[in-house]
Amino acid sequence: MESDSLAYMELAIHQAKLALESLEVPVGCVFIKDGKVIASGRNRTTETRNATRHAEMEAIDILMEKWQRDGLSKSEVAENFSKCILYVTCEPCIMCAAALSILGIKEVYYGCANEKFGGCGSILSLHSSYSETLISGEVPQRKGFKCTGGLMTSEAVSLFRTFYEQGNPNAPKPHRPLVQKEVE
Ligand SMILES: [Zn+2]
Repeated sequence: MESDSLAYMELAIHQAKLALESLEVPVGCVFIKDGKVIASGRNRTTETRNATRHAEMEAIDILMEKWQRDGLSKSEVAENFSKCILYVTCEPCIMCAAALSILGIKEVYYGCANEKFGGCGSILSLHSSYSETLISGEVPQRKGFKCTGGLMTSEAVSLFRTFYEQGNPNAPKPHRPLVQKEVE
């Protein structure tokens, strides 16, 4: 089981490397169901100019689209998520951890901690917050999930280090237009 976990995390690391090659903050992930990779994702916040396009969100959208295409009902989608295990190179941020918990994912393994935005222990503990009841019936309930960090941490961290040592070309993107206007 442990060797499988490492193999899956290798795939997540590979996704993070692809992100790095695209000058994105290097985070990658894979979703596993019944022992198979069913989706992978990498951070695409720069490419999409959308700060929410984290690796997890990319993979979740792939699954949602697929399952909707297959005509799965809401409860079938929920059942599928309840069988999914996520391997992600960095602790899910608060946004992603909340999404994963609403979707009811079974389990998460991550590489390094996310000390600024981590939603699985570092800042908030959304994976374990069964008790934080959301009262309105309109609001989706959050479910807890099992979460284990520290898988291939040094690989995950070294990708971040490489990214920041490159001079972080994406960081200083001040309030300047990034693209020339097409009409001059
Ligand atoms: Zn996130």
